[in-house]
Amino acid sequence: LDVTATSITPFDSDAETALRPRSLDEFVGQDSVREQLRVVLSAAKARDEAPDHLLFAGPPGLGKTSLAMIVAAEVNGALRLTSGPALVRAGDLASILTNLQPGDVLFIDEIHRMAREAEEMLYLAMEDYRIDVMVGKGPGANSISLDIAPFTLVGATTRSGSLTGPLRDRFGFTATMDFYEDADLAHIVTRTAGILSVPLEERAAAEIARRSRGTPRVANRLLRRVRDYAEVKSDGRITLELADSALRVYEVDAIGLDKLDRAVLRSLMQIHGGGPVGLGSIAVAVGEERSTLEEVCEPYLVRAGLMARTPRGRVATPAAWEHMGLRQAEYTQR
Ligand code: ADP
Repeated sequence: LDVTATSITPFDSDAETALRPRSLDEFVGQDSVREQLRVVLSAAKARDEAPDHLLFAGPPGLGKTSLAMIVAAEVNGALRLTSGPALVRAGDLASILTNLQPGDVLFIDEIHRMAREAEEMLYLAMEDYRIDVMVGKGPGANSISLDIAPFTLVGATTRSGSLTGPLRDRFGFTATMDFYEDADLAHIVTRTAGILSVPLEERAAAEIARRSRGTPRVANRLLRRVRDYAEVKSDGRITLELADSALRVYEVDAIGLDKLDRAVLRSLMQIHGGGPVGLGSIAVAVGEERSTLEEVCEPYLVRAGLMARTPRGRVATPAAWEHMGLRQAEYTQR
């Protein structure tokens, strides 16, 4: 697989590369996305065409980049990687597009953060495999049209709501990735343990899975931290008891919330009486970017039934008060 990074954003640690699934068969879970994608890719292959442009939406760490790599491998195209924030001017995108070879797959991560100028260039490229570039300056400036190779754009976004209508409409297929089931995460952790040659008890795999916030990247990261702990504190074998002690040390709680998740809940509850409160106020209280809370913390807290979104702001659910061991009556404004 020919991977050319055209972006300054590092997508990957080396540790992550080795763990990526390399085919749709190796990709665990997300069954309907996988099935739909299989059909889209096979049909394009049979017609000997570049597949339609694909959009993968969902929180970080759910496998969007991995799927893009798999798409490139399935269609035998080279994968070009870039990201929305790296595409500041139309020229940044023009140089990438004009260098594409037929059948290449262009992956744009965080596509919702692309500059407007670049986005407008992308419309024509996606539709007609063509771009218009301005040559010269002032009254003599001229727009010329350049053909580009037939390619497949794979866009990834953590916020499909921030995509403009015209961009969204130009994707032929959109997959919304959901958090993973525990059984799928256990499967992923077990597979990773195999690749890393870590002896992992089945019950320990299930425990790590349960505490991974529904996210494969978190599952793999927790496994690596638990492995460290097992090697330092014991003989390297990961038992249920050992996994539990390690996760406690790393401040991952019984339902998988990390320090930031708990800080968000505490701010919502202790400072704001359980809400409703805007996410911006919570961000200030915990000293994090609002976008991090919106894209990373909130989706999981909502899915875990701990936080609810209302028109007036975020509120803590009864389950959240119970989980944090706090009594709402003590924090409600008098
Ligand atoms: P995203 O692009 O959505 O942030 P990635 O594709 O980078 O997510 O996935 C993060 C890590 O999680 C990868 O290194 C990969 O090993 C693992 N991973 C993600 N999805 C799966 C899956 N379905 N099966 C196995 N491993 C996965």
